[in-house]
Amino acid sequence: MTHIFNFSAGPAVLPKEVLAQAAAEMLDWHGSGMSVMEMSHRGPEFISIYQAAERDLRELLAVPDNYKILFMQGGGLSQNALIPLNLLGHKPDGATIDFIHTGSWSEKSIKEARKYANVNIAASSTTAVPPQAEWQLTPGAAYLHMCTNETIGGVEYQPDFNDLRLQDVTLVADMSSHILSREIDVAKYGVIFAGAQKNIGPAGVTIVIIREDLLGKALPVCPSAFDFKLVADNESMYNTPPTYGIYIAGLVFQWLKRQGGVAEMSRRAQAKADLLYAALDGSDFYETRVAPSNRSRMNVPFYLKDESRNEAFLAGAKARGLLQLKGHKSVGGMRASIYNAMPIEGVQALVAYLNEFAGQHK
Ligand SMILES: *Cc1c(COP(=O)(O)O)cnc(C)c1O
Repeated sequence: MTHIFNFSAGPAVLPKEVLAQAAAEMLDWHGSGMSVMEMSHRGPEFISIYQAAERDLRELLAVPDNYKILFMQGGGLSQNALIPLNLLGHKPDGATIDFIHTGSWSEKSIKEARKYANVNIAASSTTAVPPQAEWQLTPGAAYLHMCTNETIGGVEYQPDFNDLRLQDVTLVADMSSHILSREIDVAKYGVIFAGAQKNIGPAGVTIVIIREDLLGKALPVCPSAFDFKLVADNESMYNTPPTYGIYIAGLVFQWLKRQGGVAEMSRRAQAKADLLYAALDGSDFYETRVAPSNRSRMNVPFYLKDESRNEAFLAGAKARGLLQLKGHKSVGGMRASIYNAMPIEGVQALVAYLNEFAGQHK
């Protein structure tokens, strides 16, 4: 089989070393005689797996002590409901949530939030992050929600990601598709959430990082299994957590630490993104539509100027082992997702193919 590079937006590529280790431990984890899948979540074996995963994630992201890390189920989208259900309990007379709208994922969050609160779209653009000076924030808003990397459209809050200057605003950030790809100042956020299947592990685990003073503000109708305070008080074991997914996420965290942590991932992400965008910019055969300063380093949507060649492009890519490059159906074109686990060799192979295909169809 040709060497495969998987550019899927999610569920996405995982480090080969992690998959090999999981395979080796599949039938018998560390002499326990059990697969991790078969273990009680309350037994000492799984508790040790859980605690290591929590500790490693805390270390990788430098999560301060006054934040809880929750390993939940339900995926990224469920958080669009769970966050209002968990944060609006102390706003009985109606709350307003501010949103920065930068694409499909913030759009979905906005739609869901309207079920629970008034929504104010403080700024909107799907090709750039609107400058902070233009945000029309609501005084006294319950919180401000943003999607810091739009997986479909490819808008990322960067390069000044850590320069948000907001006072007295609780920031909620959907970091599903770029968490662990760059250093973040967790203390700037009230809640950070991320589905695992982009940059962490298998689908089914959702990470929530929440400042402790925001716990205990759930609406009475919030389902108990999704009440952040109950989940936090029970170390994510109020009900059965997604145990196998947490185990794989833990292996990914260990892998990240061996690579040099988030700083090294950020360096690699920049190198991969620079290579790919330079190839796209350097050719008049392709185009990109996001403002250069807000281009995602994880999800790179691009278009063939002659879209009648899309099928041939994808077929040629597949023949070279470059898989899952088709763009999201809502925007068309192509998309290369180049998460942490994508080696630079994959991007080099894609760039070689971009040049070759353009050269053949001049
Ligand atoms: C994938 C994704 C989600 C949705 O995750 P699900 O697990 O499918 O619910 C939410 N937000 C962003 C930014 C994503 O990339």
